Amino acid sequence: MFVGHAAVALAAKPLAPRVSLGLLFVAAYWIDIVWPVLLLAGVERVEIRPGDTAFTPLAFVHYPWTHSLTAALVWSVLFSAAFLRLGRRAALVLGLLVASHWFLDALVHRPDLPLWPGSAALIGLGLWNSIAATLLVEGALFAAGVAIYVRHAPVRDATGAFAFWALIGFLVLAYVANIVGPPPPSVSTIAYAGLAGGALFAAWAWWADRHRGSVKAQMGAVMSLLSSQLRNTWRDS
Ligand SMILES: [Zn+2]
Repeated sequence: MFVGHAAVALAAKPLAPRVSLGLLFVAAYWIDIVWPVLLLAGVERVEIRPGDTAFTPLAFVHYPWTHSLTAALVWSVLFSAAFLRLGRRAALVLGLLVASHWFLDALVHRPDLPLWPGSAALIGLGLWNSIAATLLVEGALFAAGVAIYVRHAPVRDATGAFAFWALIGFLVLAYVANIVGPPPPSVSTIAYAGLAGGALFAAWAWWADRHRGSVKAQMGAVMSLLSSQLRNTWRDS
């Protein structure tokens, strides 16, 4: 799944209004950010086999340390713990985003997701066997995620509108290019493109998000400003 992971990151904004969309993106894609590193290290393996599923030429032959259910849950706990300083609720939301990756992948992959490293049971509902079904489900998820984010993070300035919609347009473009484009020439291309894409989209989301404000976060800022003003007036009088 590709834009479906972005969808849950966007939809998580009202649950953690003070956490940047950039970090929400990193959490939702975390498993896929570690994966290219392990591909390059030769620890996990992917093969390019056009037709493996209708949707993608990639055959995920071995990826237990990123894409087994157990590994995903361990990553989720570690990620959550790493961001505890942002508050318990924010850390919980980030951890859930990391874990959500496995369940969204399980929806679209053919049975290739292990339950734990070395498990014989492989999970995958195989939505990728149909391009139309994938587009329908993932497109609906993405549209819902965008709608939720836009509602809860209104624009602060023109950049907030431009940067955000350009990001959405670019994500859709990259998604379409993945479907209609030729298969990647090599595994290292997949890995480097994955890492570069991840960094670009996370930085872009962070930038766009700085120019939008969650209603709750803005109210919080106004209230604390007001109370400090009141306190000062009280002290001065
Ligand atoms: Zn994945």
